Amino acid sequence: MASHPVVVIGAGPAGLTTAYELGKNGVSSLILEAGKQVGGISQTVNYRDFRFDIGGHRFFSKVPMVNDLWHEILGDNFLLRPRISRIYYNNKFFDYPLKATNALAGLGPVEALLVGFSYAKTKMFPSPNEDNFEQWVINRFGTRLYRIFFKTYTEKVWGIPCSEISADWAAQRIKNLSLKEAVLNALLGARDGKIVTSLIEEFHYPRFGPGMMWERCEELVEGLGSQTLKGIKVERIHHRHGRVESVSGRISSGERVNFEGSHFVSTMPLRELIGAMDPQPPEKVVQAAQGLRYRDYLTVVLVVNREDVFPDNWIYIHSPEVKMGRMQNYKNWSPYMVPDPSRTSLGLEYFLWDKDEEWTWSNDRLIDFGTRECAQIGLINPEDVEDGTVVRMEKAYPVYDHQYQDNVQTVRQFLETFSNFQTIGRNGLHRYNNQDHSMVTGVYAAGNIMGETNDVWAVNTEKEYHEEGRGAPSKAGDRMVPTRVQVNVENALSGDEEEIIEFVFARLDPVALGVAVGTVIGLVIFMATLVLVLKGGSVVGPGLALLGNYLIGFEVTWSGSLVGLVEGGLGGFAIGYVSASLRNWGMTTYAHYMRWRGEVIRRRNLLDKV
Ligand SMILES: Cc1cc2nc3c(=O)[nH]c(=O)nc-3n(C[C@H](O)[C@H](O)[C@H](O)COP(=O)(O)OP(=O)(O)OC[C@H]3O[C@@H](n4cnc5c(N)ncnc54)[C@H](O)[C@@H]3O)c2cc1C
Repeated sequence: MASHPVVVIGAGPAGLTTAYELGKNGVSSLILEAGKQVGGISQTVNYRDFRFDIGGHRFFSKVPMVNDLWHEILGDNFLLRPRISRIYYNNKFFDYPLKATNALAGLGPVEALLVGFSYAKTKMFPSPNEDNFEQWVINRFGTRLYRIFFKTYTEKVWGIPCSEISADWAAQRIKNLSLKEAVLNALLGARDGKIVTSLIEEFHYPRFGPGMMWERCEELVEGLGSQTLKGIKVERIHHRHGRVESVSGRISSGERVNFEGSHFVSTMPLRELIGAMDPQPPEKVVQAAQGLRYRDYLTVVLVVNREDVFPDNWIYIHSPEVKMGRMQNYKNWSPYMVPDPSRTSLGLEYFLWDKDEEWTWSNDRLIDFGTRECAQIGLINPEDVEDGTVVRMEKAYPVYDHQYQDNVQTVRQFLETFSNFQTIGRNGLHRYNNQDHSMVTGVYAAGNIMGETNDVWAVNTEKEYHEEGRGAPSKAGDRMVPTRVQVNVENALSGDEEEIIEFVFARLDPVALGVAVGTVIGLVIFMATLVLVLKGGSVVGPGLALLGNYLIGFEVTWSGSLVGLVEGGLGGFAIGYVSASLRNWGMTTYAHYMRWRGEVIRRRNLLDKV
């Protein structure tokens, strides 16, 4: 069998991006995809011309190279859509992002008062630790608001108590929202007038859903000489002496097929990947991989014989009475998602473990269940439901529990022993990445195959990535050129005020400024005095002699020059020290303000990050 230059496992955003980048540089790939269609979790399913996503995929990225790639692949097939979303709780709808008046009106005066007390109490006695999601939210909203608006939904999504959701998750998903924009807006003014609001109120979306992007990418990749084979699930990774030699899987007829290659890139979930290694890794690695957990996702799509059901793109369902976690209205994402404008397709989202009994229910049972839940919360009349389907997506969410970091580290150390094998993407790195960062890992992996030295594991949602940030091939004798530093803005902003000051403006060192100003002033007085003494005359330096009013014992003489040097130096030191301290203090105050503004923005979109 022919050996391929590159074999890519998985035709999701990460795998296809790798093949696309390689193809543009004349390197062909063979992509093996277990599913019947490309796009992975970002695919668009077509059911009788009703299109829907796995969830809803907004296209937003702070990574310029990803935005460029999206437009390169899809041209002007993007729609700019208004965002409307609400929370359903206690038989009421609340605008989301939360609006104070709407939220308080919905809660009623008594509950609003209790929420206020709870908030005040938390502000007076905040939890000193913010190690998990629960503590983070309570410190910002108070216990009561947390219980109403965040606890149930988050626990529906993750299936574990909020107190068990690792701080990393909060750090990656919550702390990273828009702080840079808040800082830059505050410093420079709103640069295009809409930066922050556009994030919240509008988003980009391909005309026919996210799958359109990945189907087009597949075509482009094919045009560049690569091939995608669908319906082949890789089950074995054959390796020897630190190199992967081939991968094998089964086609639908059950026949086993083997693919040899020079380089291999995998987007398979790490747990499966380690299980597929042949020979098996040391027991420690196998155990670590087994310890990784994934949350599974199921969507029940209902076709409703009504033109308008609700105006939102999606509704968060916080009510514990129903199992549904969120509901999408796909025609509000793009009108092209339905074949007939008189119909509406709703996606009822259920977050499950694949061992939950609902996971194994028949489609009919799930459609019936979903219809009843929708009717229970008053969103549809069951008689209007004409049709429906179900899509299950295993391992939609890599779980960040308290053990995951150690487990990933062990697996990673093992994988790094291979010279021609890279894992990338959301499940390939066990990282809660969106499409954009999954794509960045694909770009980096392709670069590595072409001789660059990129660290795909270092890609995370807190950083911004630029083409020039990629590791260039190291050539002996190359001149060192300064490259752009990847500023971790959000981390800087979530740290101490000191860090914020350092980020926004360089902090002044009071002692250094004091010494500098003191030295200059002392020397100027010293030199000026000496010059006038040397010049001589009947009255020496009457102007400079006035300094004697401020400097004890100063006069325009030889000894006076030394007095001027010392006292001028001390005075200058004091001026420099106090000026620097005042400036730093001013910046600290400003940093407090910036932090407060950033927090306000972060809080507005918290649920989107769950
Ligand atoms: C509910 C939900 C909503 C989301 N919303 C957004 C959003 O609004 N915006 C956004 O940018 N991102 C969003 N995401 C994230 C986005 O879907 C992922 O970041 C992205 O799809 C990850 O790409 P990937 O290629 O790394 O992995 P995947 O999309 O998981 O693709 C991996 C591919 O590998 C294949 N594969 C796996 N194992 C094998 C095997 N053994 N052999 C062969 N093939 C295999 C799979 O079938 C799959 O096609 C959302 C995710 C979810 C779950």
